[in-house]
Amino acid sequence: MVGRASKTFFHLLAQSGVLKKMASRYGMRHPTSFARRFIAGETVEEAIEAARALEAKRLHLALDLLGESVTSLDTADAATREYLAVIDAVTRSGIERNISLKLTQLGLDVDKASAVDNLRKILERAEPAGFFVRIDMENSPYADVTLEIFETLWQQGYRQIGVVLQSALHRSERDLHRITALGARVRLVKGAYKEPKSVAYQTKSDVDAAYTRMMWTVLSTGHYPAIATHDRAMIDLARQFAREHNIASDQFEFQMLYGVRRDLQTSLVKEGYPVRVYVPFGREWFPYFMRRLGERPANVAFVLRAILNESG
Ligand SMILES: Cc1cc2nc3c(=O)[nH]c(=O)nc-3n(C[C@H](O)[C@H](O)[C@H](O)COP(=O)(O)OP(=O)(O)OC[C@H]3O[C@@H](n4cnc5c(N)ncnc54)[C@H](O)[C@@H]3O)c2cc1C
Repeated sequence: MVGRASKTFFHLLAQSGVLKKMASRYGMRHPTSFARRFIAGETVEEAIEAARALEAKRLHLALDLLGESVTSLDTADAATREYLAVIDAVTRSGIERNISLKLTQLGLDVDKASAVDNLRKILERAEPAGFFVRIDMENSPYADVTLEIFETLWQQGYRQIGVVLQSALHRSERDLHRITALGARVRLVKGAYKEPKSVAYQTKSDVDAAYTRMMWTVLSTGHYPAIATHDRAMIDLARQFAREHNIASDQFEFQMLYGVRRDLQTSLVKEGYPVRVYVPFGREWFPYFMRRLGERPANVAFVLRAILNESG
């Protein structure tokens, strides 16, 4: 299956320091540089500019300061300070207030309590300013602790927060019932990480079947769920289910990644559906970029063309 093999291949490439260095030198250098297809820029100002262009198309947005798997508390603290600065810049800019973040960016791999403290600092700044904060889901070893931290903060009264569930994981249908019972918002995705057979479905058809089952559940019992996919078949199924069950289009939203299926993003808006674009930015873009290539190897052709054009 192309998906699993390409995920494995690009997952390995993502570990390459040499490739990261080369990509970092060329990937964002020019407005047409290859990584800018999927990444809005390296600074919050560039991200806000990209966000304004999306809002002009009546698209909603979620800003994501790229970064993950930090190995020191100093780096985690720096990422936390940068998120606080992003919140202030977004507040000043007037664009929509919605951010996504990863717990390993806040130090989860180093010290769980520090990561929770860093997240609480961000929520203390974000919630009073009217932000919604989504905790991205990383690979499966983090699923338990991510949901545990989420539920703890939810019980402590932080309510402008949401989580992500991956249909590829066998456990996710159980987790969905747990999260919807809280009344919390779920972003439903297929799953971007290479996962072992013991915890995840391995074929696209099994992942899609689980995605479909979870979509029924989250559309019927969820709380403003986010159907996050570029898969036309899944999107059509969601629209059909909503129609058949009289679920109004303002009771859920579709979500897509910056630069992916831009045609579908605008056509759904024209049909009256809320569509939110996940807008990643920052200097730490290489792992995210590799995941995007892993999802669709055809993107490599685009990258090579961009590099050739730039060097031509
Ligand atoms: C808003 C949002 C947030 C996400 N957050 C997370 C998260 O927190 N954790 C996580 O594990 N995953 C996350 N993902 C990624 C997700 O898990 C999938 O890996 C990704 O969405 C690709 O799967 P798909 O649903 O589009 O379906 P697929 O079956 O993979 O693709 C369906 C079609 O979509 C198009 N497509 C899909 N991916 C690409 C691409 N990269 N480039 C170009 N075309 C493409 C192709 O036409 C493809 O045929 C997120 C995705 C979105 C949209």
